[in-house]
Amino acid sequence: EQYEKGLKKSRVSFTRRLNELLANFRYEDEEFFEELEDLLIESDVGFEATMEIADKLRYESKVENVRSMADAERVIVETMVDMYGETNPDHHYFNENPDGLTVVLFVGVNGVGKTTTIAKMAHQYIDQGKKVVMAAGDTFRAGAIEQLHVWGERVGAEVISTKQGGDPAAVVYDSIKTAQESHADVLLIDTAGRLQNKKNLMNELQKMRRVITREIPDAPHETLLVLDATTGQNALSQAKIFKETTDVTGIVLTKMDGTAKGGIVLAIGKELGIPVKFVGLGETMDDLHPFDTEKFAYGLFK
Ligand code: GDP
Repeated sequence: EQYEKGLKKSRVSFTRRLNELLANFRYEDEEFFEELEDLLIESDVGFEATMEIADKLRYESKVENVRSMADAERVIVETMVDMYGETNPDHHYFNENPDGLTVVLFVGVNGVGKTTTIAKMAHQYIDQGKKVVMAAGDTFRAGAIEQLHVWGERVGAEVISTKQGGDPAAVVYDSIKTAQESHADVLLIDTAGRLQNKKNLMNELQKMRRVITREIPDAPHETLLVLDATTGQNALSQAKIFKETTDVTGIVLTKMDGTAKGGIVLAIGKELGIPVKFVGLGETMDDLHPFDTEKFAYGLFK
C-alpha cells in the first residue's frame, strides 16, 4: 500500500495521459502508436524500450490479438515485464553471505540519496534482528560523516568514521575489523561520488574494493549504485559512467515518490542491463522497497 502511495505522483500525469491515450485506442491508426511513443519517451522510458513496447503493440494489433483498450494495456504491461526480465533475470536476487558478514558497497554522486538509502537498509536489517555496521567512506562531502552518525543513532547501528578528508580505504578497513569483531551480520559502506574527476573516483573505489577483497575474498556481495529518479536521463548517464568505473550489481532508484517520470526504471534496465533492486519512495527510514516490475507496470494504469 505504501508502495502504491509512493508511486502515486509518478503515476498521476503519466497514468492520466496513458489512460487518455488508450481510451482512444485505434488499432489501425499509426498516429496512435506515434503518440504512445512520444508519451513513453517523455516519461524517460528510453528510446529502445519505447520502440520495443510500441512495435510489440503494432504487431499484436496487426495479427488481431489486440482490439480493445484492455488488450492494449495487457500487451504494454506484459512487454514491459518481459523486456525487463530478459535483460535482468536476477533482479529479485540480493546476494548475501549466508554464514558470515554481508558487505554492501554504495556508490553514486552527491545528493542522490545515498546516505539516506544506507540508513533505510540498515533499518530493515535491524528490524530482522540483524546487527549492522555502517562505514562513513564519504570523507569528502562536508556533513556526510555527521549525517551518517545521526542516522546511526536513529536506526541503532554502529558507525565507523574518520575526520573529513581522511582516507576512505582506512575507514573501510576499520569498519571490516569492527564488524568482524562484533560479529555483525551486515556492513554498509558509504563512498564519495565525485564524477568531475573520473580517474580519481575510479582509483578511490578500486582502492576500497581491494581492501574489502583482501579481508573478505567474495566481498563486496553487492555494489549498489544509487540514482535519483527525478533527474531522468541524467541518472542514465551517471549509470553509464559508474558502470565503466566499477562493477555495479544493482541500482537503487531514489525519489520515485517525487517524479512523474518513473519510466527511467525501464530505460536503465533495458539499456544498461543493471537491475533496479530497490526504489526509494520517501525520506523516512521505512521508505525503501524492493523493486517489482509487475507492480510497477500494472501500477502505471491504476
Ligand atoms: P547523498 O548526498 O547521496 O548521501 O544524499 P542524502 O542521503 O543526503 O539525500 C539527499 C536528499 O534526498 C535528502 O534530503 C533526503 O531526505 C532526500 N531523499 C533521499 N531518498 C529519498 C526518497 O526516496 N524520496 C524523497 N522524496 N527524498 C529522498
